[in-house]
Amino acid sequence: MASATQPDSGLPPLRFDNRFTRDLPGDPSDVNHPRQVMDAVYSYVTPTAVPAPRTLSVSRDMLHRLGLDETDPHSAEFAAVFSGNRVLPGSAPYAMNYGGHQFGNWAGQLGDGRAINLGEVTTPNGERLALQLKGAGTTPYSRGADGRAVLRSSLREYVCSEAMHHLGVPTTRALSLVATGEPVLRDMLYDGNAAHEPGAIVCRTSASFLRFGSFQLPASRRDTDTTRRLAEHTVTQHYPECLSDGVVDNAAIGRWFLTLCERTADMVVHWQRVGFVHGVMNTDNMSVLGETIDYGPYGWLEDYDPDWTPNTTDAEFRRYRYGQQPAIALWNLGQLANTLHTLTDEVEPLQAGIDHYRDHFERQWRTMVGHKLGLSRWQEGDSELIESLNQLLAATETDMTLFYRALAELDLNNEDNHADTRLFEAAWYQPDTLNDDYRTQLAAWLDAYRGRCRHDSASPNQRCDTMNATNPLYVPRNYLAQVAIDAVEQGDLAPLERWITALQNPYTPQDGCDDLAAKRPEWARTRAGCSMLSCSS
Ligand code: AMP
Ligand code: MG
Repeated sequence: MASATQPDSGLPPLRFDNRFTRDLPGDPSDVNHPRQVMDAVYSYVTPTAVPAPRTLSVSRDMLHRLGLDETDPHSAEFAAVFSGNRVLPGSAPYAMNYGGHQFGNWAGQLGDGRAINLGEVTTPNGERLALQLKGAGTTPYSRGADGRAVLRSSLREYVCSEAMHHLGVPTTRALSLVATGEPVLRDMLYDGNAAHEPGAIVCRTSASFLRFGSFQLPASRRDTDTTRRLAEHTVTQHYPECLSDGVVDNAAIGRWFLTLCERTADMVVHWQRVGFVHGVMNTDNMSVLGETIDYGPYGWLEDYDPDWTPNTTDAEFRRYRYGQQPAIALWNLGQLANTLHTLTDEVEPLQAGIDHYRDHFERQWRTMVGHKLGLSRWQEGDSELIESLNQLLAATETDMTLFYRALAELDLNNEDNHADTRLFEAAWYQPDTLNDDYRTQLAAWLDAYRGRCRHDSASPNQRCDTMNATNPLYVPRNYLAQVAIDAVEQGDLAPLERWITALQNPYTPQDGCDDLAAKRPEWARTRAGCSMLSCSS
């Protein structure tokens, strides 16, 4: 039964209805120490209290969605609830059990080692959202780690999920960022210099936090019953359109998998469009809803470089580099298909999903890159046009975001090399190093592009509108996150709020926000947190 808090209690009035824990097998033990948890998809666990919770930021959008008042975040109760210090009536906190392939290798049981779900709430407009605190203390899945998160990583998750949503990328959301008042020990650069950092907790939300790895773990243990119950829950609750007359049979599993393949393809097309590099596309970080999940050592492409990864742990093999994300998503879907095969014993419905990913990705990718160039439809020769542009962008450090915004300003009727060069000046990281050969190649490409645009049905205004609705102006650049983190650590919340406000309208220039769209300054080129990130969070 749904339950609510008393309206005058001062507590956020959330209505819990915990379908996930009701439907699925839980851990019979409530002992909170690291262990293998068998035959269960979650363990009840109480968040570990923090000394001085203080709300640093809230998403107004999420407040409204959850039916909370804008005055709520100012209360001590809000900080207590969203740090885990105070458990609301109706909430029965739990950590989820899952496994995963990490960097291509099966890693066995992982699970929520520091994320604790408060439960599922029903919102005023009938949505159902799970609320999850990341950094709320140890769980049976903590494997000896501390269950905490540092402010820098929590702020990065909070901001990026907000930015992604407003960029139109499917993502988990975040309600709040709460400082804990508790120092957390981290060796940020993995160089033996561990130091205390301020701790913080993000409350994130999604219809479901199930991952590919949630299915992989029971299947790896030949626990078909749990794997099947997970599939039944997922399809019934989250993909009811895939049911076969209300039943989850092989055909329903096949339809769900195909839909997930399509959603995952759409998500990755968006990542490529905006220049988002996830950094840790392990199967435990892939959502069964096709949302971007688990913002860790992610990064935003600055100079266009398909081989770039922000994750220092991945620096050698670059498995999760920008240009490889589409192939990795497919590999991950292949792992999930292997898992679901233990239920269906039929290859075809799952192979159909994999094939669909390839076709759908290719179609959507073409449409997307066409729109980045302002073209109304794909035609022969466009692959070559894009390929030669990508080579040019990579030949000298060119900010992808700024380049496409500048390209929208190109005068199609007036070939003027000087004016064109000025247009792209802001996008080049080292304009002084550009030689004549490069400039000649750029002029030739612009010539070809102008010709292509003249043969397109889009008018110059339509071209410009399409480009500026496809190519964002404000993305959460890596160095800007560090600027906001430094300020918050010094007690100044203003830069964070100003930045989030800009990111809520990423396609529209805003007065006085030029600095938030500018390319990375030289001081940030090598500074930790501004270009490369470790998994230490
Ligand atoms: P991630 O790379 O953030 O997706 O985390 C991989 C696994 O490590 C997950 O099972 C996390 O719950 C766990 N983990 C990461 N950091 C911590 C921590 N500080 N305490 C406990 N578990 C953690
Ligand atoms: Mg994770």
